[in-house]
Amino acid sequence: MLPVKRLFVAILAMLVWADFNTTVSAQTLPDHVARIAGDVYSYGPGNEYFSMFVVTSEGVIAIESVNTEHATGLLQAIRKVTDQPVKYMLHSHNHWDHASGGQVFKDAGATTLAHIEAFEWMKANTGRDMAVPDESWSGTRKDITLGGTTIELHYLGMNHGLGMTVFRLPEQKVVYIADIVTPERVLFSIVPDFNIREWERSLEEILKLDFDKAVYSHNEKADASQGGTKQDAADNLQFLRDLRAAIYAEFKKGTNPMMVPDIVQIPKYKDWAMYDQWLAMNAWRLLLDDWMGPFPWRPDPGYQVKK
Ligand SMILES: [Zn+2]
Repeated sequence: MLPVKRLFVAILAMLVWADFNTTVSAQTLPDHVARIAGDVYSYGPGNEYFSMFVVTSEGVIAIESVNTEHATGLLQAIRKVTDQPVKYMLHSHNHWDHASGGQVFKDAGATTLAHIEAFEWMKANTGRDMAVPDESWSGTRKDITLGGTTIELHYLGMNHGLGMTVFRLPEQKVVYIADIVTPERVLFSIVPDFNIREWERSLEEILKLDFDKAVYSHNEKADASQGGTKQDAADNLQFLRDLRAAIYAEFKKGTNPMMVPDIVQIPKYKDWAMYDQWLAMNAWRLLLDDWMGPFPWRPDPGYQVKK
């Protein structure tokens, strides 16, 4: 065969293979599962919560059990993707609405794990659907390696809830972030259990991490199953700063502080989810935080605040 003809046949074969490959992959992915990168997948059954899992040659690491129904669906989905056993279920933080359902993964033989602060809270305030994790970790960083895949666990400070962990897969450049970044939505209702200044500082830390894609526990993008990018974290940080600036601009105009939350507008974000419903509540929270001082707050156990 002439070299050019041979090259043409080779390219054609490659194209056919590539097409066949993507078609098969798309068909074999179970419902509610999307491939984020390599062997990293998101799972979101349409209940406003996304989990993530990574398949390795020695087992699966899953993040965020949410509740028994979600965890059961997640486990079934994992079993459709791989025969590998689930070795870990990692909890992002303490809250009942994220860290419940862990028993499903314990029963499947996985080790459930949370940061010591979340662990202690879960032990003291075990929700109806919550199982106290098998293990805890402390400090600001832990790495887990399974089947040649490393996942980094980062504790960035008292930004939201207790023991909030940001997970990063350095090889795949993917992170999993719960609650402290939500693409294309204003802050969550009354902004419960967020230390605003620590949150901003944590977002700056997140922006320094090396990643291309992110699975966010909550996501208002049109194609949320595909996760998001680092830009979403930058946008969330900018929203916090723009809202604070808008509040102070009203003070400067002489608006009665009690009226500011009802009046304040930041039209740049008018298309974000819950803008009309929650912006006033967001403004109250930021205003009160700057008035009363940061809350919630607790003494630094020695590793919380990176300076
Ligand atoms: Zn939370």
